[in-house]
Parts: sequence; C-alpha cells; structure tokens
Amino acid sequence: MINQQMTQLGENSSVIRELFEYGKKRKAEIGEDKVYDFSIGNPNVPCPQEITDIMLRLISETEAAALHGYTSAVGDNGTRQAIAAYMNEKYDIGVDFTDIYMTVGAAASLTISLRAITNPGEEVIVFTPYFPEYKVFIENAGAVCVEVPARAGDFQIDFEKLENAFSEKTAAIIVNSPNNPTGAMLTAETLDELAAFLKAKEVQYGKEIYLISDEPYRELVYDGVQLALPVKHYDNTIICYSYSKSLSLPGERIGYIMVSPKMAGRKKVFATICGAGRSLGFVCAPALMQLVVGQAQGLTSDISAYAENRAIIYNALTEYGFEAVKPDGAFYLFVKSPSGDGGEMSERAKQQELLLVPSDSFGMEGYVRISYCVSKKQIEDSLPAFRALAESYGL
Ligand code: PLP
Repeated sequence: MINQQMTQLGENSSVIRELFEYGKKRKAEIGEDKVYDFSIGNPNVPCPQEITDIMLRLISETEAAALHGYTSAVGDNGTRQAIAAYMNEKYDIGVDFTDIYMTVGAAASLTISLRAITNPGEEVIVFTPYFPEYKVFIENAGAVCVEVPARAGDFQIDFEKLENAFSEKTAAIIVNSPNNPTGAMLTAETLDELAAFLKAKEVQYGKEIYLISDEPYRELVYDGVQLALPVKHYDNTIICYSYSKSLSLPGERIGYIMVSPKMAGRKKVFATICGAGRSLGFVCAPALMQLVVGQAQGLTSDISAYAENRAIIYNALTEYGFEAVKPDGAFYLFVKSPSGDGGEMSERAKQQELLLVPSDSFGMEGYVRISYCVSKKQIEDSLPAFRALAESYGL
C-alpha cells in the first residue's frame, strides 16, 4: 500500500505554494503588474556577476570528470577547505574542513542532520513562528515536532515556556536567526542563556542535546546589527547553511552542514551525518556548484536592494497604521492583523490584489508575512493597495 503520510504531504501543498499558484492565475487574468505577490521567498536580486564569471570559467577550463562527475559524498575537499578558511577568518571558530559536509541546500542540511541526531519517538523543539518545513523534516526522521512560542514582541526565546516543553525525550532544538518569517534575530544574551539552559539539561539527562542552527539568512542583516552566531555560544551546535538566499542561487541547490569543532564526539557525529546522507540517498551535492561556491566565499548578492525595500515597506505600513515587527535581517516583514486573524487579513488583502501569507502557516496566529525580496517597483506600486487595506480596517 502506498504511504498515506506521503500522500497527504503530496496532496496538501503549502499555503505559500497555493498563494503563489493563485497569483499566477490571477496575473494571467488581470495582468502581471496588477497583482502584488509577496508570497514566496525567491530572491529577486540576481546572483553577483562574479558567480556567472566563475561558472563560465569553470565550464570552459575544467575537465568533464571534475565538472560533472560524482564528488566524494562529503564534498569536494578544495571547496570544504575554502569554506573552513572563510568561516575561521570571519568568525574565528577554529573549524576544520573535515567538519563540513556539502549538501543540496539547507533543506537537505536539515533533513540529514535531523535524521542523524534523533531516534524515532524523540522530540525536536522549534520556536513559533517557524519555517513550516521543519515539521515535515522532523517527522521524516520519525521524531516529534514540539512547538514553543517565541517571546511576544521581540521574538527572543521564552525560557519559561522552553522549560515547560523540554523533556527527557528532547534530542535537539532548532534556531533560525535571522528568522523566517519575522526577520528577528537572536541576541548574544539570548544565545548565552540558551547555552546555559542546554548545558544544564545535558547534565540533568546525561546526554548530548544538539542545537541545529539553520542559517540561510546569515548574511542578510541590516543597519549594522551584529549577528550572534550560535556555534560561538554552544559547543554541540550543527550549522545548516545554504547559498540559496545569500547568493540568490535557490534553484542550484547548494549548501553545507558544519559540525562545531568543539562538539562532544564530533567525529562520530560527523560519521552519523555521512550515514544519514547516504541513507536518504543524497549521493553528493552538485559538482559544478560545489566548485563555484568554493571560489565565491565572502561574496553576496546586492543586499542593499533588500535594505531599501525593507525601509520603504516598513515605513509605509507603519504610517498607514499597521503594527509590524521591524526586521533586523532576512527579507520578510511580519505584520499584525488588525482583526487578530491572519487568515482573514490574507483573504481581505486579495481584494486589493495583495498576496500575503497568513501566519498560521508558521505555527502562530494573528499575523501575515510579507516577502519583500521583490522589485522596488512592485513595492512602490503596491502601496496604494496597502493603504486601501488599512482603510478597510478603519486604521
Ligand atoms: N530554512 C529556512 C528558514 C528557509 O526560509 C528556507 C527556504 O526558504 C530553507 C531553510 C530552505 O532553503 P534551501 O533553498 O537552501 O533548501
């Protein structure tokens, strides 16, 4: 018999995808520029010209076997060395290239890591609101997703709620800073408190508790805000990274897993990650893209375009009377629904041809998410529609 759980996943596409599809249909009906689609986190800023140049050079100068052949399962050593050197220079974490496992983007980094560090029936804690695929990936590992609301207002960790949700079954916690969908970032103080909390739990339960740090938005930080890197605060951290957002390469599927060089039993954990990658059928990450990112360390897309979008949309919406979380990073704006119902706001926004994702998709009621990784023109053109939406609420 076919697997019912997979049928359900396949038949019920995410609300984000549904909105995206609705947008395509609506655009065909009334015209591309009449629909303001803020549904999906597909970076609109192109990848840097250097990426195109590196690709062209690699394609013309590299022999086919190195360009298109299998790499070793863990990835190309030159690329892993380049990533380790960059991370050590930038963050001073003392990582060795042998701690890095190349993957097909953050989705694969997460799926593999979760499979590696949990056993069926164990629990993984996520903070709401969160990227909805976490639940899918956690359940794929046979583990249970436990949702803990983030602190109201600033979206830091609510340690009382975390304490209440923690149990002897907890194997790991996922953090995501800058965050999808709020754009909020965890402060160094929060991470210090989390590290102290987790160390105490490790002693209490006599086992390692892993922190998975999902970092696809690590480079997308605004106003000179200092990023606090979880691995600097807690030794049993696994970084799940991706070049999808920082280099605008989501369709190229390239990222990595990095095990903290200070992790207890890190060689064994790394071997387990290799086993999980093998078991899930991730033979190796795309060879050409591995070579590309190996030569692109430190490069990012033009982040200033997102900073500009963020300023325009945040300032306009708050001026119209909406309450929004001012995002420190990523390219999402989380806006409170004046009716208290995110689904209602998303439906009402459709009448103004605005496509906004209701926050219950992220495990939290009462908000909508706006992806502002769109053209500046779309943002500017959409402002009258946002004003009309505000007026419809009497703001
Ligand atoms: N984690 C978060 C928080 C995301 O927002 C996304 C994609 O939007 C991913 C992971 C998956 O990224 P990737 O394209 O690298 O698989």
